[in-house]
Amino acid sequence: MKNIAILGSTGSIGTQTLDVVRANRDIEVRALAAGRNIRLLEEQIREFGPQLAAVWEEEQAKELALRVRDLDVRVVSGMEGLLELAVMPGYEILVTAIVGMIGIRPTIAAMEAGKDIALANKETLVTAGHLIMPLAEKTGVRILPVDSEHSAIFQSLNGERQNRIHKILLTASGGPFRGRTREELKHIRPEDALKHPNWSMGQKITIDSSTMVNKGLEVMEARWLFGVSMDEVQVVVQPQSVIHSMVEFEDGAVMAQLGTPDMKLPIQYALYYPERRFLAGARLDFAKLGQITFEAPDMVNFEGLSLAYEAGRAGGTLPTVFNAANERAVRKFLNGEIGYLTITEMIRTSMERHRTIPGPSVDEILAAEQETYDFIESRW
Ligand code: NAD
Ligand code: MG
Repeated sequence: MKNIAILGSTGSIGTQTLDVVRANRDIEVRALAAGRNIRLLEEQIREFGPQLAAVWEEEQAKELALRVRDLDVRVVSGMEGLLELAVMPGYEILVTAIVGMIGIRPTIAAMEAGKDIALANKETLVTAGHLIMPLAEKTGVRILPVDSEHSAIFQSLNGERQNRIHKILLTASGGPFRGRTREELKHIRPEDALKHPNWSMGQKITIDSSTMVNKGLEVMEARWLFGVSMDEVQVVVQPQSVIHSMVEFEDGAVMAQLGTPDMKLPIQYALYYPERRFLAGARLDFAKLGQITFEAPDMVNFEGLSLAYEAGRAGGTLPTVFNAANERAVRKFLNGEIGYLTITEMIRTSMERHRTIPGPSVDEILAAEQETYDFIESRW
C-alpha cells in the first residue's frame, strides 16, 4: 500500500492522478489541496477519504468544513494549510499538481520532511531548481517527474545512470499555430489558443504550449532535473506527439520513450516507479500512424522559446521573471485584455528591466515574482 497527498487535486493533473488511484486500488489518498473548486473537492473527499483537506481561501475552507462535517476530515486553509499538509505524517509521495510558484514552499517543506515528490509543478524547478536539487541530494528524497517529456527522459535513462548525457532532445508538438508568421499570430483569440492538437490540459499550460513558453519552461525544468546545461537541451518539433523525448549519449546512441499522448502514463510511472503497471487506453499502432516527422523549432516567430533560453542561461532570478511575466500575461490574454503577441512582449520587457540576483533565496524569488507582477500592472 502506498500513501500519497495531492496539491491541486481538482485540476487536470490532479484529477488524472485520482483516475490512476481509482484504477489501481492500492494507493491511499491521505490529503488533498485545491484552490477554489470546493464542490469537486467535496466529491473527492467523499470518494477517497483523506484525513486532511486544504482550500486556499479561509471562507471557502469554512464552507467545505460545514459540507463534510459528517466525515472524519480536517479542513485547513492558506499557505499555512498547504505547509501543514506537506509535512503531515502518514504519507510518502507528494504529487505537486498545483499551478504556479505557490508550489515552491510546500514542496521544500515536504522534502525536508522526507517525502518523495511526484513533480508536475514545473514552476518550482524553473524558479528554484538551484535550491530544490541540492535539497533532494541532502535529504535523499526522490524527484519523480510527471511532465510527459521529463518522464520520457527519466525512462530513457533507466540503467544509464553511470553514463554521461551528451544531449537531451526535448520534443514539442509545436502547438496549434506551428508554421504561422508573426503577422498571422497577431489576431489569435483565446478560444483558438485553447485548442491543443494532441494533449488535453489545464487552460494556462494550453496557452503556454501554443506560445512555446511551455517548452521553454520545460527546457529549464530538464536542465535541473538531469543536471545538464541549457545548451545541452535541444528542442525538436515532433508534431504527432508520439515521441515524448529522447536522450543522446556520448557514443551517439539515442534512447526514446514513445506512447499515445496520455498524462496518466507519466503520472502512474511516477507513483509506482520503478514498477510498470497495466494502464487502460489506446496503444500506438505504427502501421496506422504511418510516419513520425521532425523539424526545428521556429524561435523567431515563437519568441517565447528564445526568451526562455536567455532566462535559463542567465539563471538567478531571471527565470522567475520569465515565468511570472508569462503567468500574468496569459491571465490578461484569457481575460481579453491584451493581444496574443503582447504575451511575449510582456515577458521580454520584464526581463530587460530586471536586475538579476544570482542564486536567490525563496524570499528573493517570491520578491522578484511580485516585482514583475507590479511592473506589468503599472505598464499595461
Ligand atoms: P489546472 O489549472 O488544471 O489545475 C491546477 C490545480 O491547482 C487545481 O486543482 C487548482 O485548484 C489548484 N490550485 C491553484 N491555486 C491554488 C492554491 N492557491 N491553493 C491550492 N490549490 C491551488 O493545472 P494543470 O494543467 O493540472 O497543471 C498543474 C501543473 O502541472 C502546472 O505546473 C503545469 O505546468 C504542470 N503540468 C501539467 C500538465 C497537463 O497535462 N495538464 C502536463 C505537464 C505539466
Ligand atoms: Mg510537458
